[in-house]
Amino acid sequence: MRAAGATDPGCKREENQDSFLIDEDIGLFIVADGMGGHKGGELASSIAVSTLRDYIRAKRWDKDRIGVVRNAFSLANKAIMEKASEDPELSGMGTTATMAWITEGRMIIAHVGDSRAYLYRKGELFRITKDHSLLQDLIERGRVKPEEGRGHVMRNIITKALGVSEDLTPDIFVDRFEPTDALLLCTDGLTVHLTDGRIEEAICAKGDDPEMAVNALIEEAKAEGGSDNITAILVVGDRFKAIPLVAPALIRVRKADRGKAMWVAAALLMLVLSALFLLGGMHLTLSSKGGELVICRSLMIPGTTWVTERTGLPSSWADLVEKDWRGKEVGRIDEARKSVARIFVKALRMGPRKVKRIWIEKGLYYVEKAGIDRIGFSNEEISDFLLDLGDIALSIGAWGLAFDSYSRALAYCSGKEEFVERAIRGMVESNYRAGMLGEYMEMLRKRLASNPNDDLAKRILVIGSDIRNKKRGE
Ligand code: CA
Repeated sequence: MRAAGATDPGCKREENQDSFLIDEDIGLFIVADGMGGHKGGELASSIAVSTLRDYIRAKRWDKDRIGVVRNAFSLANKAIMEKASEDPELSGMGTTATMAWITEGRMIIAHVGDSRAYLYRKGELFRITKDHSLLQDLIERGRVKPEEGRGHVMRNIITKALGVSEDLTPDIFVDRFEPTDALLLCTDGLTVHLTDGRIEEAICAKGDDPEMAVNALIEEAKAEGGSDNITAILVVGDRFKAIPLVAPALIRVRKADRGKAMWVAAALLMLVLSALFLLGGMHLTLSSKGGELVICRSLMIPGTTWVTERTGLPSSWADLVEKDWRGKEVGRIDEARKSVARIFVKALRMGPRKVKRIWIEKGLYYVEKAGIDRIGFSNEEISDFLLDLGDIALSIGAWGLAFDSYSRALAYCSGKEEFVERAIRGMVESNYRAGMLGEYMEMLRKRLASNPNDDLAKRILVIGSDIRNKKRGE
């Protein structure tokens, strides 16, 4: 196991309220993002880190490791609250904490707040933690689209943190840690600027050298504005293998050597390029494995193809869309995912005979990843597609998914009346079928009470009562 971590104040702030810890001795890794006043934030995050470390160090031989982790969090919580009560300047301070304790091939992740843990396993990136933030709640209720999240005004309001309230229960996740895995812990200063896709690319391409990967991630976030403190820790297993997307960073050079190094770099680049040319280049292609649509890497030489991402979608859908798609080049990984998204959209339109709920979810994931608005669809087309998706979800009884699709369609439809009407009816219908219409309308009434100008809420309420009356009449 190798690990590296770094923190940076970013481009807009003078102080750095993030703290982090790497203790390879006991396999403990923590990031914490403090908040509350000039002094408070920094102090809160450092108390969290040191309290967690001290307690876990002392109790590391204890059999009940999860119990140890819970106690450590509750101690850190108390320590911050006590410190805050001693000094009025510190009142209201708190901190996020995302921690991984990896020992004997097993990892325990414990988490409060909106810092994150990501696991990169077998070519796929998983977000392990769920943000404890108002924004996440809104996303889950379908009020905000996930892709809008990163720039959203609500993103700073966190709903759980250390040092805020007496009773605190961290989210805890337990999993194996495989020798081929990579684990990233980071604060929101990173994720506000970088999509999961970009994080995945950095780990995938540079994870062999955790220090380089971490620095590259921080530099990327700074290049995108660096609006907050940025902290990242990358832990990679002993058999983790990066897949460089381009020629590996050739040489890290001292300034004085730059001129010479440029020539060496150019020569090396030529060498790599000609090698790639001879080999036919490294390609991403689409393929089918066991009936599943997969993204492959290959050297265009028979026998050099290997799966880099399983899509979870049936490859028969690609057959619907195009005859000879197998082995076709699809560019870089994001391009490849766009192709998957396109296939998904087109195939659904052609009406495959059987649709499973998981395929709708997987398809939505790809559509989201590709950023459907950037692959040549107009807003109306997207809305139209999401409405169809809502109908399909309704027809297979996936009410939550249907509601999600309709409310997102509503956000895309640019006010086009027939779309608005259909989206609202769909939202009401899916709530009705789920037995949630009463609750939903109650929520809208409250929303209307606090904002009487909310025309959308008014309109949904009207259609809601209309549908309810009709159903009663039936
Ligand atoms: Ca932050």
